[in-house]
Amino acid sequence: MLTIGLTGGIGSGKSTVAKFLAELGAPILDADKVGHAIYQPGGPAYADMIDAFGQGILAPDGTIDRKKLGPIVFGDPAALKRLNAIVHPKMFARMGEMVAAMRAEGERKPIVIEAAILIEANWQALVDEIWLVVASKERVIERVERDRGMKPEQTEARIRAQLSDDERRRHAAVVMVNDGTLEQLRAAVAELWRGALERNAA
Ligand code: ADP
Repeated sequence: MLTIGLTGGIGSGKSTVAKFLAELGAPILDADKVGHAIYQPGGPAYADMIDAFGQGILAPDGTIDRKKLGPIVFGDPAALKRLNAIVHPKMFARMGEMVAAMRAEGERKPIVIEAAILIEANWQALVDEIWLVVASKERVIERVERDRGMKPEQTEARIRAQLSDDERRRHAAVVMVNDGTLEQLRAAVAELWRGALERNAA
C-alpha cells in the first residue's frame, strides 16, 4: 500500500493540495503537528531539547516555549543543526509508527504525509513516492503577501534559505506546477489521486 510524501517550498501550495486531497478522502498526516507533539512534556524529544538548550527554553508550566527557543536557534546555524538532529529523527520514527498504526487499524488508501522539509530532513524512506508542489517565485511572493501579509523581501529570504526546487525535483515522482487557478490545481489533484488509488490497488 502506498505512502505519498507531499512537499514543496513556502507558499507553493502544499497545504492547499493537502486540503484538496483530504476532500477526496485521503488520510493526511501533517508533519508539523507531529513536530509539535514530540516536544510536549513526556514526548520523545522533550528531555533531549532541555539537555541541549537549557531550562531557559521552558515556559512556567514546563512546556517548551517556541518563543524562547526561536531566538536561540534562528540565526545560529550550529544551534539549528543541533535542534534538527534531535527533532528530525524522532519525527521520522513517530511518523513511521503512525503510518503503521493506521495500517494496523485497517487503513487501505494511500496515506499522504505533508512535510515541507521531507527532503531536507531525509525522510524519503518513510514514503514510496514524493509529490512536489512548485510555483514560480512571482506567484509565491504575491500569494503569501496577499494571504499571510509577508513582505516580498521576507519571502525571498525564506526561499533562499530553503532547498531549491531544482534539488527537490530530483527526488520527486510527481511535480505539480501550481501557477494557475485554484480550480486548475484542484483538477490536477483529483487526477493524481485517481492514479494513486489505481497504483495502490495494483
Ligand atoms: P504552502 O502550504 O506550500 O506554504 P499554501 O497552500 O498555504 O502553501 O498556499 C499559499 C497561499 O496561496 C495560500 O493562501 C493559498 O490559498 C494560496 N494559493 C495556493 N494555490 C493557489 C492558486 N493556484 N491560486 C491562488 N491562490 C493559491
